[in-house]
Amino acid sequence: MVKKGAKLSKKIREKMSAAAKKRPRRKHSEETKKKIGFSNLGKKYSEEAKAKMRLAWVERKKIGVSEETRKKISIANTGKKLSKETKLKLRLSKLGDKNPNWKGDNVSLGALHTWIKKRKPKSKICERCKKNPTYDLANISQKYYRDINDFEWLCRGCHMNGDGRMNNLKQYG
Ligand SMILES: [Zn+2]
Repeated sequence: MVKKGAKLSKKIREKMSAAAKKRPRRKHSEETKKKIGFSNLGKKYSEEAKAKMRLAWVERKKIGVSEETRKKISIANTGKKLSKETKLKLRLSKLGDKNPNWKGDNVSLGALHTWIKKRKPKSKICERCKKNPTYDLANISQKYYRDINDFEWLCRGCHMNGDGRMNNLKQYG
C-alpha cells in the first residue's frame, strides 16, 4: 500500500482518519479482540509450546496448592493423631474390670498382660497342675477380663493344653 518512509498525502491521511472515526468502536468488540488474541496465540505458540505452558501452569498451581494444602493436611493429621490417641486413652481409661474388648487387640493384650503381671506375682509352680514350673501368664475365660482372677500362671504343658484347660474351666465353675 504505502511505501515505508513515504509521506502520506494529506488526502489519504484524512481519508484514513475519517475511516477510523467511522469505524464503529463496538465492532472492535470484546469478541473480535478475543478472536484476534486467539489467532495471535495460535500463531505465536505451537501446540507443543502450548502444552508445555499448560503443564507449567498446572505444576505451578499444584505446588501453590500443595504448599497450602500440605500445611492444612499436616495440621489436620496432627489433630487426627492427637484425637485418636486421646480417644484410645479415654477408651482404655473407661474400660471396666470386665471388658472383653481387650481380646483381639494385641497392643491392648500386651498392656493387659503387663497390668496383670504387676498385680499378680508370678508363682513358681503352675497354678493348674501344681507340679511344673510356671511358663506364662494365661487367661482363663479367654475373654481377657482386666481382672487378676481371670489369669493364672501356668506351666508350658497346661498352657498348651487348650482342651484340657476348657475342661478344667468347667470344673472351676
Ligand atoms: Zn501345669
